Amino acid sequence: MPLADIQNRIAAETLRSGRPEHSTRLIAVSKVQPNERVEEVLKQGHRVFGENRVQEAAAKWPDFRKAYDEVELHLLGPLQTNKLRQAMELFDYVHTLDRMKLAKRFAVLKEELGHCPKLFIQVNTGNEPQKAGISIEDTSTFVADCRALSLPVIGLMCIPPVEDDPEQHFAMLRDLAKDNDLPELSMGMSSDFELAIAQGATFVRVGSAIFGDRVPLKA
Ligand SMILES: *Cc1c(COP(=O)(O)O)cnc(C)c1O
Repeated sequence: MPLADIQNRIAAETLRSGRPEHSTRLIAVSKVQPNERVEEVLKQGHRVFGENRVQEAAAKWPDFRKAYDEVELHLLGPLQTNKLRQAMELFDYVHTLDRMKLAKRFAVLKEELGHCPKLFIQVNTGNEPQKAGISIEDTSTFVADCRALSLPVIGLMCIPPVEDDPEQHFAMLRDLAKDNDLPELSMGMSSDFELAIAQGATFVRVGSAIFGDRVPLKA
């Protein structure tokens, strides 16, 4: 689907939900996409992109950033502490802060580098054992601990279980963010971004609906 159609759907749903016109931002998820497809979207003026892997982003984005001004990069995939320094140099936002060890490491490197990406805490709203994220019950404590480390935590992120109705998870995340005075909500993908916007998403992460199907890296 053309980028403009996605942008129109986002704008329409944002207004329909009674929210301010530009309060939902689109992250174009470019992971595993051929560079030509990414460049097409850059040429249309879009500047906000998401990647899942530090390595892949490091191979792709420095060159794009030379060619295009004001690119904003979001890390959406799991983060290992040994990749953290590189991630902090590359990304403007990280959506997957999910454990104390990582939070402490962010705090150390923030001092050393003098900057830190804006952070989302990933919440495992479905309590799925194989999925990363802080449990709903532990989120408020974790937010407080991150604040005590002076980390720039701006919001919460979730990936609902595939078999569930995503709406209830989006609503839970919204309530949890509100309880913790966090203004940003990263939720909604190609198949459900309108539902997420209705529940207050401020960042939607849309990949295949913009770029077409991905060639899967692994099954
Ligand atoms: C891949 C991915 C997306 C985008 O998924 P689509 O279904 O292609 O829109 C969004 N968020 C995360 C965390 C992802 O890994």
